[in-house]
Amino acid sequence: PKASVETPAASGKSVENVVIIGSGPAGYTAAIYAARANLKPVVFEGYQVGGVPGGQLMTTTEVENFPGFPDGITGPDLMDRMRRQAERWGAELFLEDVEHIDVKSNPFTVQSSEREVKCHSVIFATGATAKRLRLPREDEFWSRGISACAICDGASPLFKGQILAVVGGGDTATEEAIYLTKYARQVHLLVRGDQLRASRAMQDRVYNNPNITLHFNTEAVDVVSNTKGQMSGILTRKVDTGEESVLEAKGLFYGIGHSPNSQLLQGQVKLDSSGYVLVEEGTAKTSVEGVFAAGDVQDHEWRQAVTAAGSGCIAALSVERYLVRND
Ligand code: FAD
Repeated sequence: PKASVETPAASGKSVENVVIIGSGPAGYTAAIYAARANLKPVVFEGYQVGGVPGGQLMTTTEVENFPGFPDGITGPDLMDRMRRQAERWGAELFLEDVEHIDVKSNPFTVQSSEREVKCHSVIFATGATAKRLRLPREDEFWSRGISACAICDGASPLFKGQILAVVGGGDTATEEAIYLTKYARQVHLLVRGDQLRASRAMQDRVYNNPNITLHFNTEAVDVVSNTKGQMSGILTRKVDTGEESVLEAKGLFYGIGHSPNSQLLQGQVKLDSSGYVLVEEGTAKTSVEGVFAAGDVQDHEWRQAVTAAGSGCIAALSVERYLVRND
Protein backbone atom coordinates (compact mmCIF):
# COMPACT_ATOMS: atom_id res chain seq x y z
CA PRO A 1 0.00 0.00 0.00
CA LYS A 2 1.06 3.54 -0.69
CA ALA A 3 0.07 6.43 1.56
CA SER A 4 -1.17 9.28 -0.60
CA VAL A 5 -2.74 12.44 0.69
CA GLU A 6 -3.46 14.75 -2.24
CA THR A 7 -7.07 14.46 -3.27
CA PRO A 8 -10.35 14.36 -1.36
CA ALA A 9 -11.54 10.90 -0.47
CA ALA A 10 -14.24 8.77 -1.99
CA SER A 11 -14.63 10.73 -5.20
CA GLY A 12 -12.29 10.01 -8.05
CA LYS A 13 -9.31 8.67 -6.08
CA SER A 14 -8.97 4.98 -6.60
CA VAL A 15 -7.63 3.82 -3.24
CA GLU A 16 -8.11 5.64 0.08
CA ASN A 17 -5.51 5.55 2.86
CA VAL A 18 -7.93 4.62 5.60
CA VAL A 19 -11.63 4.01 6.10
CA ILE A 20 -13.00 4.40 9.62
CA ILE A 21 -16.26 2.62 10.41
CA GLY A 22 -18.23 4.06 13.33
CA SER A 23 -18.92 7.47 14.86
CA GLY A 24 -18.61 6.89 18.59
CA PRO A 25 -15.71 8.26 20.65
CA ALA A 26 -13.39 5.64 19.09
CA GLY A 27 -14.30 6.42 15.47
CA TYR A 28 -14.19 10.21 15.81
CA THR A 29 -10.94 10.19 17.79
CA ALA A 30 -9.37 7.97 15.14
CA ALA A 31 -10.72 10.40 12.51
CA ILE A 32 -9.21 13.42 14.29
CA TYR A 33 -5.77 11.79 14.53
CA ALA A 34 -5.83 10.37 11.00
CA ALA A 35 -7.00 13.69 9.56
CA ARG A 36 -4.31 15.60 11.44
CA ALA A 37 -1.77 13.15 9.99
CA ASN A 38 -3.08 14.27 6.59
CA LEU A 39 -4.38 10.82 5.70
CA LYS A 40 -7.76 12.20 4.54
CA PRO A 41 -9.76 9.54 6.35
CA VAL A 42 -13.13 8.46 5.04
CA VAL A 43 -15.57 7.89 7.90
CA PHE A 44 -18.76 5.87 7.64
CA GLU A 45 -20.71 7.17 10.60
CA GLY A 46 -23.64 4.78 10.51
CA TYR A 47 -27.17 5.79 11.34
CA GLN A 48 -28.14 2.90 13.53
CA VAL A 49 -28.95 4.86 16.70
CA GLY A 50 -32.08 6.83 15.85
CA GLY A 51 -30.76 7.96 12.48
CA VAL A 52 -28.04 10.12 14.02
CA PRO A 53 -24.27 9.68 14.19
CA GLY A 54 -22.46 9.65 17.53
CA GLY A 55 -22.88 6.16 18.94
CA GLN A 56 -24.02 5.08 22.38
CA LEU A 57 -23.60 8.46 24.07
CA MET A 58 -26.40 9.86 21.92
CA THR A 59 -28.76 7.86 24.14
CA THR A 60 -27.68 9.44 27.42
CA THR A 61 -28.06 12.79 29.10
CA GLU A 62 -25.17 13.93 31.33
CA VAL A 63 -21.65 12.57 30.92
CA GLU A 64 -19.83 13.43 34.14
CA ASN A 65 -16.59 11.49 33.73
CA PHE A 66 -15.14 12.62 30.42
CA PRO A 67 -11.99 14.64 31.25
CA GLY A 68 -12.08 18.33 30.41
CA PHE A 69 -15.70 18.97 31.31
CA PRO A 70 -15.73 19.77 35.05
CA ASP A 71 -19.42 20.64 34.99
CA GLY A 72 -20.40 17.62 32.88
CA ILE A 73 -21.60 17.67 29.29
CA THR A 74 -24.52 15.99 27.60
CA GLY A 75 -23.73 12.93 25.49
CA PRO A 76 -25.03 14.50 22.25
CA ASP A 77 -23.07 17.73 22.87
CA LEU A 78 -19.85 15.80 23.52
CA MET A 79 -20.30 13.76 20.35
CA ASP A 80 -21.14 16.85 18.29
CA ARG A 81 -17.89 18.43 19.44
CA MET A 82 -15.88 15.36 18.48
CA ARG A 83 -17.60 15.28 15.09
CA ARG A 84 -16.86 18.94 14.40
CA GLN A 85 -13.24 18.46 15.45
CA ALA A 86 -12.86 15.57 12.98
CA GLU A 87 -14.50 17.62 10.22
CA ARG A 88 -12.35 20.66 10.94
CA TRP A 89 -9.21 18.63 10.23
CA GLY A 90 -10.56 17.29 6.97
CA ALA A 91 -12.15 13.92 7.73
CA GLU A 92 -14.73 13.07 5.10
CA LEU A 93 -17.91 11.92 6.84
CA PHE A 94 -20.67 9.82 5.30
CA LEU A 95 -23.85 9.21 7.23
CA GLU A 96 -24.15 5.71 5.84
CA ASP A 97 -24.07 2.20 7.25
CA VAL A 98 -21.38 -0.09 5.96
CA GLU A 99 -23.12 -3.16 4.61
CA HIS A 100 -20.22 -5.29 3.51
CA ILE A 101 -16.48 -5.33 3.87
CA ASP A 102 -13.84 -7.51 2.27
CA VAL A 103 -10.41 -7.56 3.93
CA LYS A 104 -9.25 -10.81 2.36
CA SER A 105 -6.96 -9.00 -0.08
CA ASN A 106 -5.42 -5.53 -0.03
CA PRO A 107 -6.66 -3.03 -1.18
CA PHE A 108 -9.67 -3.76 0.99
CA THR A 109 -13.24 -3.05 -0.13
CA VAL A 110 -15.81 -1.27 2.00
CA GLN A 111 -19.33 -1.15 0.69
CA SER A 112 -21.96 1.19 2.15
CA SER A 113 -25.56 1.67 1.19
CA GLU A 114 -24.42 4.39 -1.26
CA ARG A 115 -20.87 3.67 -2.41
CA GLU A 116 -17.97 1.28 -2.63
CA VAL A 117 -14.56 2.44 -1.38
CA LYS A 118 -11.18 0.76 -1.84
CA CYS A 119 -8.66 1.38 0.92
CA HIS A 120 -5.25 0.35 2.23
CA SER A 121 -6.36 0.18 5.85
CA VAL A 122 -9.51 0.02 7.96
CA ILE A 123 -10.28 1.10 11.51
CA PHE A 124 -13.22 -0.84 12.81
CA ALA A 125 -14.98 1.16 15.56
CA THR A 126 -18.57 -0.05 15.40
CA GLY A 127 -19.07 -0.26 19.17
CA ALA A 128 -21.30 -2.57 21.11
CA THR A 129 -24.91 -2.64 22.14
CA ALA A 130 -25.99 -3.16 25.74
CA LYS A 131 -28.40 -6.06 25.90
CA ARG A 132 -31.85 -4.99 27.00
CA LEU A 133 -34.69 -6.85 28.64
CA ARG A 134 -37.31 -5.22 26.39
CA LEU A 135 -39.67 -4.50 29.27
CA PRO A 136 -42.98 -2.96 28.16
CA ARG A 137 -42.11 0.47 29.66
CA GLU A 138 -38.38 0.31 28.95
CA ASP A 139 -38.26 3.10 26.35
CA GLU A 140 -40.30 5.38 28.60
CA PHE A 141 -37.84 4.99 31.49
CA TRP A 142 -34.55 4.60 29.59
CA SER A 143 -32.12 7.11 31.20
CA ARG A 144 -34.92 8.13 33.59
CA GLY A 145 -34.62 5.13 35.89
CA ILE A 146 -33.34 2.35 33.66
CA SER A 147 -29.64 2.27 32.81
CA ALA A 148 -27.10 -0.17 31.45
CA CYS A 149 -24.04 1.43 33.05
CA ALA A 150 -23.56 1.78 36.81
CA ILE A 151 -20.21 3.56 36.45
CA CYS A 152 -21.84 6.11 34.13
CA ASP A 153 -25.04 6.75 36.05
CA GLY A 154 -24.63 5.44 39.60
CA ALA A 155 -23.63 8.79 41.09
CA SER A 156 -26.46 10.68 39.38
CA PRO A 157 -28.76 12.64 41.72
CA LEU A 158 -31.58 10.43 40.41
CA PHE A 159 -30.04 7.40 42.12
CA LYS A 160 -27.94 8.73 45.04
CA GLY A 161 -29.19 7.51 48.42
CA GLN A 162 -31.99 5.50 46.78
CA ILE A 163 -32.98 1.84 46.67
CA LEU A 164 -31.80 0.38 43.35
CA ALA A 165 -31.92 -2.97 41.57
CA VAL A 166 -29.57 -4.77 39.20
CA VAL A 167 -30.60 -7.57 36.85
CA GLY A 168 -28.19 -10.41 36.08
CA GLY A 169 -26.12 -13.07 37.77
CA GLY A 170 -22.73 -12.87 36.08
CA ASP A 171 -19.62 -10.76 36.58
CA THR A 172 -21.14 -7.64 35.01
CA ALA A 173 -24.21 -7.67 37.24
CA THR A 174 -22.28 -8.38 40.44
CA GLU A 175 -19.76 -5.67 39.63
CA GLU A 176 -22.57 -3.19 38.95
CA ALA A 177 -24.29 -4.11 42.22
CA ILE A 178 -21.10 -3.70 44.25
CA TYR A 179 -20.31 -0.41 42.53
CA LEU A 180 -23.81 0.94 43.19
CA THR A 181 -23.55 0.31 46.94
CA LYS A 182 -21.16 3.29 47.04
CA TYR A 183 -24.10 5.58 46.35
CA ALA A 184 -27.32 3.68 46.94
CA ARG A 185 -29.06 3.00 50.24
CA GLN A 186 -29.70 -0.59 49.25
CA VAL A 187 -29.18 -2.68 46.11
CA HIS A 188 -31.34 -5.63 45.09
CA LEU A 189 -29.73 -8.16 42.77
CA LEU A 190 -32.36 -9.97 40.67
CA VAL A 191 -31.06 -13.31 39.42
CA ARG A 192 -33.15 -15.49 37.09
CA GLY A 193 -31.39 -18.71 38.03
CA ASP A 194 -30.89 -20.25 41.43
CA GLN A 195 -27.23 -19.25 41.72
CA LEU A 196 -24.72 -16.61 40.67
CA ARG A 197 -22.60 -17.26 37.57
CA ALA A 198 -19.99 -14.69 38.60
CA SER A 199 -16.45 -15.64 39.61
CA ARG A 200 -15.96 -16.99 43.13
CA ALA A 201 -14.25 -13.74 44.21
CA MET A 202 -17.15 -11.61 42.98
CA GLN A 203 -19.66 -13.92 44.64
CA ASP A 204 -17.85 -13.56 47.96
CA ARG A 205 -17.90 -9.79 47.64
CA VAL A 206 -21.64 -9.85 47.01
CA TYR A 207 -22.40 -12.23 49.89
CA ASN A 208 -20.25 -10.17 52.26
CA ASN A 209 -21.85 -6.87 51.33
CA PRO A 210 -24.67 -6.06 53.78
CA ASN A 211 -26.16 -3.53 51.35
CA ILE A 212 -26.88 -6.10 48.64
CA THR A 213 -30.00 -8.27 48.85
CA LEU A 214 -30.06 -11.29 46.56
CA HIS A 215 -33.27 -12.49 44.91
CA PHE A 216 -32.82 -15.83 43.16
CA ASN A 217 -35.32 -17.29 40.65
CA THR A 218 -36.57 -13.76 40.09
CA GLU A 219 -37.10 -11.83 36.86
CA ALA A 220 -38.06 -8.22 36.21
CA VAL A 221 -41.40 -7.99 34.41
CA ASP A 222 -41.85 -4.21 34.15
CA VAL A 223 -41.24 -0.84 35.75
CA VAL A 224 -43.82 0.67 38.08
CA SER A 225 -44.30 4.45 38.39
CA ASN A 226 -45.84 6.82 40.96
CA THR A 227 -48.51 9.45 40.32
CA LYS A 228 -45.80 11.94 39.21
CA GLY A 229 -44.72 9.52 36.49
CA GLN A 230 -41.41 8.73 38.21
CA MET A 231 -40.10 5.23 38.54
CA SER A 232 -41.03 3.89 41.96
CA GLY A 233 -40.59 0.14 41.70
CA ILE A 234 -40.14 -3.01 39.69
CA LEU A 235 -42.78 -5.63 39.04
CA THR A 236 -40.99 -8.94 39.60
CA ARG A 237 -41.99 -12.53 39.01
CA LYS A 238 -40.72 -15.70 40.67
CA VAL A 239 -39.74 -18.00 37.81
CA ASP A 240 -40.45 -21.14 39.83
CA THR A 241 -43.89 -20.22 41.23
CA GLY A 242 -45.02 -17.42 38.86
CA GLU A 243 -45.80 -15.23 41.90
CA GLU A 244 -45.64 -11.51 41.09
CA SER A 245 -44.83 -8.65 43.47
CA VAL A 246 -43.62 -5.05 43.39
CA LEU A 247 -40.16 -4.27 44.70
CA GLU A 248 -39.58 -0.65 45.73
CA ALA A 249 -36.72 0.82 43.65
CA LYS A 250 -35.85 4.12 41.97
CA GLY A 251 -33.50 2.59 39.47
CA LEU A 252 -33.01 -0.57 37.46
CA PHE A 253 -29.58 -1.42 36.05
CA TYR A 254 -29.11 -4.04 33.36
CA GLY A 255 -26.06 -6.19 33.93
CA ILE A 256 -26.86 -8.78 31.28
CA GLY A 257 -23.98 -8.11 28.94
CA HIS A 258 -23.24 -6.40 25.65
CA SER A 259 -23.20 -7.53 22.02
CA PRO A 260 -20.26 -6.27 19.96
CA ASN A 261 -21.25 -4.95 16.51
CA SER A 262 -18.78 -7.17 14.68
CA GLN A 263 -21.01 -9.09 12.25
CA LEU A 264 -19.31 -7.41 9.26
CA LEU A 265 -15.97 -8.95 10.19
CA GLN A 266 -17.22 -12.46 10.84
CA GLY A 267 -15.08 -14.98 8.99
CA GLN A 268 -12.51 -12.30 8.06
CA VAL A 269 -10.64 -11.42 11.25
CA LYS A 270 -10.39 -13.38 14.48
CA LEU A 271 -13.20 -12.77 16.97
CA ASP A 272 -13.51 -14.23 20.46
CA SER A 273 -16.32 -16.59 21.42
CA SER A 274 -18.62 -13.65 22.26
CA GLY A 275 -17.92 -11.89 18.97
CA TYR A 276 -15.46 -9.26 20.22
CA VAL A 277 -12.69 -8.45 17.74
CA LEU A 278 -9.43 -9.91 19.00
CA VAL A 279 -6.55 -7.44 19.01
CA GLU A 280 -2.92 -8.02 19.90
CA GLU A 281 -2.62 -7.01 23.53
CA GLY A 282 -1.95 -3.31 24.04
CA THR A 283 -2.40 -2.54 20.34
CA ALA A 284 -5.22 -2.02 17.85
CA LYS A 285 -3.94 -4.74 15.49
CA THR A 286 -6.40 -7.43 14.45
CA SER A 287 -5.43 -10.77 12.92
CA VAL A 288 -5.32 -9.14 9.46
CA GLU A 289 -2.52 -6.69 8.64
CA GLY A 290 -3.94 -3.26 7.89
CA VAL A 291 -7.18 -3.89 9.77
CA PHE A 292 -7.36 -2.20 13.17
CA ALA A 293 -10.10 -2.18 15.81
CA ALA A 294 -10.90 0.37 18.50
CA GLY A 295 -13.48 1.00 21.18
CA ASP A 296 -16.18 -1.24 22.57
CA VAL A 297 -16.15 -3.65 19.61
CA GLN A 298 -12.82 -4.98 20.91
CA ASP A 299 -13.25 -4.22 24.63
CA HIS A 300 -15.55 -6.26 26.84
CA GLU A 301 -13.97 -4.99 30.00
CA TRP A 302 -13.72 -1.20 30.35
CA ARG A 303 -16.40 0.14 27.95
CA GLN A 304 -15.97 3.84 28.67
CA ALA A 305 -15.98 6.84 26.33
CA VAL A 306 -12.47 7.82 27.34
CA THR A 307 -11.03 4.32 26.85
CA ALA A 308 -12.79 4.08 23.47
CA ALA A 309 -11.30 7.45 22.49
CA GLY A 310 -7.85 6.31 23.67
CA SER A 311 -7.99 3.17 21.58
CA GLY A 312 -9.19 5.21 18.58
CA CYS A 313 -6.05 7.31 18.93
CA ILE A 314 -3.86 4.17 19.07
CA ALA A 315 -5.60 2.80 15.97
CA ALA A 316 -5.02 5.98 13.93
CA LEU A 317 -1.36 6.25 14.95
CA SER A 318 -0.95 2.57 14.08
CA VAL A 319 -2.45 3.17 10.63
CA GLU A 320 -0.03 6.03 10.07
CA ARG A 321 2.93 3.78 10.91
CA TYR A 322 1.54 0.94 8.84
CA LEU A 323 1.15 3.13 5.76
CA VAL A 324 4.62 4.62 6.12
CA ARG A 325 6.14 1.17 6.58
CA ASN A 326 4.40 -0.12 3.47
CA ASP A 327 5.04 2.97 1.37
P1 FAD B 1 -20.18 3.42 20.06
O1 FAD B 1 -20.37 4.63 20.88
O2 FAD B 1 -21.02 2.23 20.33
O3 FAD B 1 -20.32 3.83 18.54
C1 FAD B 1 -20.30 2.89 17.52
C2 FAD B 1 -20.65 3.56 16.23
O4 FAD B 1 -20.54 2.64 15.16
C3 FAD B 1 -22.07 4.12 16.16
O5 FAD B 1 -21.99 5.41 15.65
C4 FAD B 1 -22.79 3.19 15.18
O6 FAD B 1 -23.81 3.84 14.46
C5 FAD B 1 -21.62 2.84 14.28
N1 FAD B 1 -21.82 1.61 13.50
C6 FAD B 1 -22.17 0.36 13.93
N2 FAD B 1 -22.28 -0.47 12.89
C7 FAD B 1 -21.99 0.27 11.78
C8 FAD B 1 -21.96 -0.01 10.38
N3 FAD B 1 -22.24 -1.22 9.89
N4 FAD B 1 -21.62 0.99 9.52
C9 FAD B 1 -21.32 2.24 9.98
N5 FAD B 1 -21.35 2.55 11.29
C10 FAD B 1 -21.69 1.58 12.16
N6 FAD B 1 -19.21 6.01 29.00
C11 FAD B 1 -18.60 6.95 29.73
O7 FAD B 1 -17.37 7.03 29.70
N7 FAD B 1 -19.32 7.85 30.47
C12 FAD B 1 -20.68 7.85 30.51
O8 FAD B 1 -21.30 8.66 31.22
C13 FAD B 1 -21.36 6.87 29.73
N8 FAD B 1 -22.71 6.81 29.72
C14 FAD B 1 -23.33 5.88 28.95
C15 FAD B 1 -24.71 5.88 28.91
C16 FAD B 1 -25.38 4.96 28.13
C17 FAD B 1 -26.90 4.98 28.10
C18 FAD B 1 -24.65 4.01 27.36
C19 FAD B 1 -25.37 3.01 26.49
C20 FAD B 1 -23.26 4.01 27.40
C21 FAD B 1 -22.59 4.94 28.20
N9 FAD B 1 -21.21 4.97 28.26
C22 FAD B 1 -20.57 5.94 28.98
C23 FAD B 1 -20.39 4.01 27.51
C24 FAD B 1 -19.89 4.67 26.22
O9 FAD B 1 -20.98 5.25 25.55
C25 FAD B 1 -19.19 3.67 25.33
O10 FAD B 1 -18.13 3.05 26.02
C26 FAD B 1 -18.62 4.35 24.09
O11 FAD B 1 -19.61 5.06 23.41
C27 FAD B 1 -17.97 3.34 23.15
O12 FAD B 1 -17.52 4.03 22.04
P2 FAD B 1 -17.27 3.34 20.63
O13 FAD B 1 -16.75 4.43 19.76
O14 FAD B 1 -16.48 2.13 20.79
O15 FAD B 1 -18.70 2.84 20.11
